[in-house]
Amino acid sequence: MTVREALSGAVEQFEAAGLDDSRLDARVLLEHSLDQSTVWIYQHPETPLPTEANARFDSLIRRRLMGMPIAYLLGSREFYGRVFQVDARVLVPRPETEVLLEAALEYARETRAATFVDVGTGSGILAITLALEIPACRVWAVDRSADALAVAGLNVDRHGVADRVNLLLGDLLTPVSFSADVIVANLPYVPTAEVDQLQREVRQEPRGALDGGSDGLDLYRRLLTEVPRVLSPRGALFFEIGDQQGAAARLIVQAVLPGHRVRVLRDLADRDRVISAIAERE
Ligand code: GLN
Repeated sequence: MTVREALSGAVEQFEAAGLDDSRLDARVLLEHSLDQSTVWIYQHPETPLPTEANARFDSLIRRRLMGMPIAYLLGSREFYGRVFQVDARVLVPRPETEVLLEAALEYARETRAATFVDVGTGSGILAITLALEIPACRVWAVDRSADALAVAGLNVDRHGVADRVNLLLGDLLTPVSFSADVIVANLPYVPTAEVDQLQREVRQEPRGALDGGSDGLDLYRRLLTEVPRVLSPRGALFFEIGDQQGAAARLIVQAVLPGHRVRVLRDLADRDRVISAIAERE
């Protein structure tokens, strides 16, 4: 079988299965199987597929047809221009989370914030990107899942930030015993009843990273009870929410941080996505 035949065969199977991005999925899985670039694939349509690559490609196609997210099949996903290792132990990084990152970065650059806590770090994308973008800062990255922290650890090493990113196992802010300039969090926020209605791909992700209780805000409500103990009085809090949660989340934060300006930031699709709480200037 040639490269061209392998590609078109996979596209046909994916289209028959009703996948959204059949051609793209087939191409990136073939690239991964061959360890070759997109350009190479298009320049070598008649090259026969080596047996091993063919076997790898078949197995990837099978798992994709079962609904496995592309990021897990490839073992990586890009976030803010850098590649992070991911697998089924962590949520797949989403582009929307860059809205949260950019809000935190802007605040940190303006105020010279130096101490960050990332609650529910998962694969570590927020903690590690903050460490790389804000050169002298220190980041404490917390997760209640030891499995997730193992993945975060791989990414900390991969990006060479082990000296400035500390991984802590525990519930929310429990393992944090110092004061932080900035707290960021992407906690589970999908309402329980909606978790089983999610796309098949999303349901392959850890339920513990998605299920946020009856209205999706249970973990954020608990987090906010702990925030005053850890957040420095002039510090800032940024967290990701679902597109129906802006108003409710804003109220929860305002009740706990009355001296902060609380705003709902929107993603590129113009949906509520991030809560930003910054101390009011005198
Ligand atoms: N954005 C994810 C989704 O909609 C949810 C992420 C989360 O709960 N933190 O599937």
